[in-house]
Amino acid sequence: MKEMKKRPGFATRAIHDGQASDALTGAVNVPIYLTSTYQQEEIGKNKGHEYARLTNPTRDALEVSLCSLEGGTSAHVFGSGMAAITALCTMMKSGDHVVCSDNVYGGTGRLFDKVLTNYGLTFTYVDTSVAENVAAAITPATKLVHIETPTNPMMSLTDIGAVAKICHAKGVELSVDNTFLSPYLQQPIALGADIVMHSTTKFLNGHSDGLGGVLICTKPEHAETFRFVQKCTGGILSPFESYLLLRGVKTLAVRMKQHDANGRVVADFLKSHAKVQRVFYPGLGEHPQHELAKRQQKGFGSMISMELGSLEKANAFAKALRLGLLAESLGGVETLICHPATMTHAAVGAEGRARLGITDGLMRVSVGIEDVEDIVADLGQALDRI
Ligand SMILES: *Cc1c(COP(=O)(O)O)cnc(C)c1O
Repeated sequence: MKEMKKRPGFATRAIHDGQASDALTGAVNVPIYLTSTYQQEEIGKNKGHEYARLTNPTRDALEVSLCSLEGGTSAHVFGSGMAAITALCTMMKSGDHVVCSDNVYGGTGRLFDKVLTNYGLTFTYVDTSVAENVAAAITPATKLVHIETPTNPMMSLTDIGAVAKICHAKGVELSVDNTFLSPYLQQPIALGADIVMHSTTKFLNGHSDGLGGVLICTKPEHAETFRFVQKCTGGILSPFESYLLLRGVKTLAVRMKQHDANGRVVADFLKSHAKVQRVFYPGLGEHPQHELAKRQQKGFGSMISMELGSLEKANAFAKALRLGLLAESLGGVETLICHPATMTHAAVGAEGRARLGITDGLMRVSVGIEDVEDIVADLGQALDRI
């Protein structure tokens, strides 16, 4: 893209930033550089690349793209969302403390409690939908507050701006897991976050064909730290999966528009269905944080949870699906439906699930971008079989 006067819009940046035509051939797509090493011209002289754990042109292009979409100053991609969160935690030293959303992604809580506590880090989980809870949990040892909004699967929101203010007043950094909305629907850095994290496996990739994770940062010291961590720990994203993401983000804006439109229609339909006891979706007027969703998000997205009453009812629904796929994960073009109690939140344990409100009758829908009439018809016929 040649120099433009005004900063281009989101969809334009998603297609062009980091994705310039290839200087050698003019190819309009970034090539997949399948190389582990780079020939050097003489001792101490190279073309900017030495070894592929440090840099790879396909991965570098992806980092430029994702950095632009979240409005950060650097981006660092890893082999999965969990690898990105693990890298995030290397900012800390033994004795440091983290405050975290109590309804955080199951794998994040597991990493914190079962792995990182062995290295002297401590974690406090609070309901961050009440910003004052964050202020009360911060201690002199706190280095990081990590939040997820909306949460999985209860769709509870946290006021990013309010929590950022609390963090910064106490000299603590705020990281936001923005996986559920993507930068198209929510821009945490503009609201005050210091670091944004994604499982790119979900909406950013969008096609359910590759794992990945990213940290998007706002300070030079972050860039230095995470570039060094990529080199030292080696959990980097492969060139092929970097390419899949570069391809995926080109359609992020149109996909998210359709996910959001379909999500609204499906949530309204589920709300009106007699077999559905309760719908959790920030786009519904009855959602307790609907006003916050309107203020902090550009749309409501396509993640919806619903209460069907029991494990038997949930399974009757799941078995009757014809179009929707019973599967873990989310954010793909296809409608994906999961049973949090036995799938994503099995590791949380029955007690933990009860505390968070995750019942055996709860189902989570990641509404895809198929024709919405077909999605509604499928969910309707499956609900009728309960
Ligand atoms: C999937 C997910 C993760 C973990 O990402 P992986 O790519 O599966 O390692 C973290 N946070 C959220 C919100 C997720 O949905």
